[in-house]
Formats: sequence, structure tokens, C-alpha cells
Amino acid sequence: MSSPRRVAVVGAGLAAVSTCDALRAQGYDGELVLYCDERGLPYDRPPLSKDVLLGKSGRDDILLRPEQWYEGQRVGLRDGTPVRAIRPRESGIELADGSVVGADRVVLATGGTPRTLPVPGGDDPAVRVLRTWEDAERLRERLLPDARVTVVGAGLIGAETAAVAVALGCRVTLVDPVPVPLAAVVGEGVARALHSRHTAEGIEVITSGVERVERPAAGEVLVHLAGGSRVVAADTVVVGIGIRPATGLAEAAGLRVDNGVVVHAGQRTSHPNVFAVGDVARLDGHRVRHEHWEAAQQGGEAAASGILGRPLQQAGAPWFWSDRHGSRLEAVGTMADAERTAVRGAPDSGAFTVFGLRGDRLVAAAAIDRARDIKAARRLVDRGVAVDPARLADEGVDLRTLLKR
Ligand SMILES: Cc1cc2nc3c(=O)[nH]c(=O)nc-3n(C[C@H](O)[C@H](O)[C@H](O)COP(=O)(O)OP(=O)(O)OC[C@H]3O[C@@H](n4cnc5c(N)ncnc54)[C@H](O)[C@@H]3O)c2cc1C
Repeated sequence: MSSPRRVAVVGAGLAAVSTCDALRAQGYDGELVLYCDERGLPYDRPPLSKDVLLGKSGRDDILLRPEQWYEGQRVGLRDGTPVRAIRPRESGIELADGSVVGADRVVLATGGTPRTLPVPGGDDPAVRVLRTWEDAERLRERLLPDARVTVVGAGLIGAETAAVAVALGCRVTLVDPVPVPLAAVVGEGVARALHSRHTAEGIEVITSGVERVERPAAGEVLVHLAGGSRVVAADTVVVGIGIRPATGLAEAAGLRVDNGVVVHAGQRTSHPNVFAVGDVARLDGHRVRHEHWEAAQQGGEAAASGILGRPLQQAGAPWFWSDRHGSRLEAVGTMADAERTAVRGAPDSGAFTVFGLRGDRLVAAAAIDRARDIKAARRLVDRGVAVDPARLADEGVDLRTLLKR
């Protein structure tokens, strides 16, 4: 395959910026342009549901790269410029104003859009989501002491939002139909400990679905719970029930799409000149898209290698973190793959680790406030060494010694 001369990246989130960074680091010298429908310099999303909502960070604090970086790396940034279509057969992309720009490789880094509640009133603009800087800015203004805030969805972003809102003095109700949210991802023990913290911190937790949302008067939103069991009145409603991958451009171009743009090694899509990275991409053979910060970062690095035909780094097991109520959750691998578990530390203390094993190999771990355990677990999972569950659980054993066969 010939070396590209013009690379167009659609989107300017972490996966896009990581792709550009890695392309330059790997020696790509040609034209490189980022097109993004959002305005301004690209920013990082995890702080939106943490320090930005808390009012501790502004937009300048969360930029992915300083302004000079784009000039220094010769990365063209076309912000406020939506891409309407990609045309890989004609080596180009079409912008929203109808103009066509040449590109012999296209990287789709379009992320996802928040899911709305699939019930009557669920798409009312008074029902908020949290994905962009603007979402966070508007929501922050409403998180005032004593405000009634209802959060629907107690997964990652919903739980973080509820935790910030209660810390700011709001009266928070958290609604989720699942009794122990996240159990499938981090295992029952860690998920239960995390979820129970909400009640301890003063959040009203309700296990229920939502039947409909109503806005009888300006400023008030009524959340009708399933089966007419209750109506929760709120000043602000936030929904955090996941995202839909933004696959429209890929579908229109005839690429293979199935719960994300399907990619192979090097982030290659079903078209040889189109690559996909970050939240929009799903690696063929994997059930889920890993909608996490590190996956977006590493996807960019892999795409750069794929575009330039360089050898690929072996990807490690997926890892993510989440902060709530002053504690940090970290998880590596997929707990659903585990056949049995070993626990290190005392769950009552609030800080502990659950290791998930399949046969004698560690396949996953989830921890609350135990960063060192997760650091060691990542290496154990990635190297596939046989481990003794009793030694994993024994606080007297330095986990790093388990790496030595
Ligand atoms: C509030 C929040 C908190 C999070 N916290 C954590 C955390 O604690 N830990 C963790 O591991 N992960 C966290 N994540 C997830 C992590 O931030 C994402 O996985 C990562 O940002 C995905 O990056 P991306 O580049 O794929 O997508 P995005 O960051 O969504 O970027 C995609 C960009 O493409 C633009 N775009 C879409 N279509 C077009 C088009 N046609 N033309 C031009 N531009 C387009 C979009 O507007 C967007 O700007 C969090 C995410 C959010 C939203």
C-alpha cells in the first residue's frame, strides 16, 4: 500500500488527537487535518463529570493539547466544521457546506451521542445529558444547594454526576432499574459496595424504570416511575444511560457497522483507506465497544501504525477508572469472563480488590481505592501467568512477586 499524503480525521476528541500525535511520532510528514463539529480547542471528557461540574476546572484546564501544539505538529484544526459524508472511493470527504476536500486516508473518530430515555417525554430538552463542554456548563449552573436533582442511570457517568450533585448540596435522587448497577462490568462485590455509598452519602436511591417524563410547568420536571409506583419531582433531570456510537458517516459509505464501526488490527475498517478509533469503533470479535479513555488513546496509536503500515503494539486488557464520593474505582479486563474470584482487603473498609480468574489465569480485577493492586493486576492479566488465588488474596504477598514464574 502506498504511503498516504493527506490524512483527514473526522472528530477531535481524544481518539482523534491521539491518532495525530502518533502519526507524527511515527514519522508521517504529510498533510493532517482534524475536522470537528464542536467549536474551540479539543478537550478531555472525563473531567466534565468531575472537576468541571464541581466548578474546579474551566475549559482551559481540560484541553487535550495547548494551542501551539497544533501549529508545532502541523495539525490543521477545522473546528465548527461538521463532515457530511466520507467518500473513500473518490479519496475525499464532504463538509457540511458541500465542499469536497481531498483525503487519501480517513480516520473516523466521531465518538457517540448520549442515549435518551425511550419513553414519552424522554427527549424533552429539560431532560439533560452529559457529553460535551456545553452540557457540563449548563448543568453546573443548575447544581445549586437544595436544588432537586434526579439522575436516571447509575452506571459510570450517572453515578459520578449524582455524587458531584450531592457534594454541592443538591437533594439527589438516583433511579436505575438494576438493583446493583455495574455488576456485569466490575462484579457483584465491588458494584454493591459502590452503589451502597450513594445512600450513605445522602442520595435517595430508587430501583425502578421510568415510564414517562412530564414538564407541567416551567422549571419543574416530573419523572413517573415504572408501574405508576411514584412520581419524582425535580428541578433538574439528568439521564446517563450510555451512548450510541456515531456511525452515520460509516453506514452511508457502506462500511461494515454492527454496534460500532467494525475494525480489525490497526483500526482498519472494511474499506482499506478508512480507519475508526475511540468510542465509535468495535474490534471485530469483541462483544462490546470499550468506551473508555485509555481505549481511545491506544486506538489512535494503533490507527497510526495501521495507516503507516508499521508493526502493531500488543494491546493490553481494557482498563478504566471512575471517581465518585472521593473514591476511585478502577477495573481491568472483563469480570464476566471470570469463573471464580479472590478478594484482597476488607470490603467493610471500603477499599478492596476483587480478582477474577479463569482456570489459573487472572482475567479481570476491580478495585476501590487500591491503585497498586490494579497496576499489578494489569501486568498479570496481560502476561497470562498462572496465579494462586490464595496468594492473590493474601495481603502479606507483594503482588509483583507473582509476575515471576
Ligand atoms: C462525562 C464523561 C466522563 C467520562 N469519564 C471517564 C472516566 O472517568 N474514565 C474513563 O476511562 N473514561 C471516561 N469517559 C469516556 C472517555 O472520555 C471517552 O471514551 C473518550 O472521550 C472517547 O473519545 P473519542 O475521541 O472516541 O470520542 P469523543 O470524545 O466523543 O469525540 C468525538 C468528536 O467527534 C465529533 N463529531 C461527531 N460526528 C462528527 C462529524 N460528522 N463531523 C465532525 N465532527 C464530528 C463530536 O462532536 C466529538 O467532538 C468519560 C466520558 C464522558 C462523556
